[in-house]
Amino acid sequence: MKQHQSRSTSQRSSDFSQTRSCVLWITGSLLLASSTLACSKQNEAQPKAVSPTPVASMSQPAPPPVAEKTEPAAPAPTINPSRAMQYVKEVVAFGARPVGSANHKKLENYILGHLKGDDIDSTTFTADTVEGKFPVRNIIAKYPGTKDGIIVIAGHYDTNYPLRNTGYVGANDGGSSTAILLELANHLRGKKRDGYSVWLLWTDGEEAMKQWSETDSLYGTRHLAQQWQSDGTLKKIKALFVLDMIGDAELDVLRETHSTPWLMDLFQQAAARTGYQSHFFAQEGAVEDDHLPFVKLGVPSADIIDIDYGYNNVFHHSTQDTLDKLSPKSLEIVGNTTLEAIQLLDQR
Ligand SMILES: [Zn+2]
Repeated sequence: MKQHQSRSTSQRSSDFSQTRSCVLWITGSLLLASSTLACSKQNEAQPKAVSPTPVASMSQPAPPPVAEKTEPAAPAPTINPSRAMQYVKEVVAFGARPVGSANHKKLENYILGHLKGDDIDSTTFTADTVEGKFPVRNIIAKYPGTKDGIIVIAGHYDTNYPLRNTGYVGANDGGSSTAILLELANHLRGKKRDGYSVWLLWTDGEEAMKQWSETDSLYGTRHLAQQWQSDGTLKKIKALFVLDMIGDAELDVLRETHSTPWLMDLFQQAAARTGYQSHFFAQEGAVEDDHLPFVKLGVPSADIIDIDYGYNNVFHHSTQDTLDKLSPKSLEIVGNTTLEAIQLLDQR
């Protein structure tokens, strides 16, 4: 994905310093603009301006107090964090997993192998990219519910293409999202859902082939959003969450501003109910990610992403994006909060 800007939510309405804003600008995922580099240098001596000010001070309406909410019918759902982490390890063990690679094919089979017996919808198409034509495959696992409507939980499984021959493995960026969905599948499988249907979506071709742009990115979800608009699926989707880079041991999820505000509020409410609220939304910023094609077509969508991965996001799209930076606790926090968010949506 591509980040535009990030700032502390406590500074949302205040005068934001040039130095602070430019240090968090990233262009094209890989290259910093020259002016940004200059800004970064200026900023080196300054403390990182992260303020965990409660969202109650934000200009957008805060979610209602937890006490006012209907209690869930069932006890809080939980995932198995050590199993989720084991999935990350196994996924990373394939090596780089860019579109069109042998490792990517192995990973497709690995994902499908874990979904045996589930209702799978897998579609492959050819993406015409700046680097040539590539097969792109979205994998969907469907878990039916009693309510009319669908909640989609998405995460990409491809890894960065330009870094494919550098030793890059994408433990967090690609690995964590693949694994958390596999663990959510374990949780959803074989149970009668008294709520909306839940579809897990492993997206492909999220990464840019060369330089992030509207046409060089999000290949899988741009295709799928159009397909779902044509076949009528789109209007059945009540909510769509994208989980991306959520394995960082120092978990601080951004309040992403392209996302649908009420859905972000709902996720925050879920985090409060699970007791994990300190890991969410202390900063806000705009990120281009797999939710965008759906946002553009009016689907309530939320990008749950931690784009503060190492100092100044230095591990992102670097060979330092490795297993040792991740924690099963972070997978647990995001996984359980996602399950809680699904429960809250079921009650709406
Ligand atoms: Zn990436």
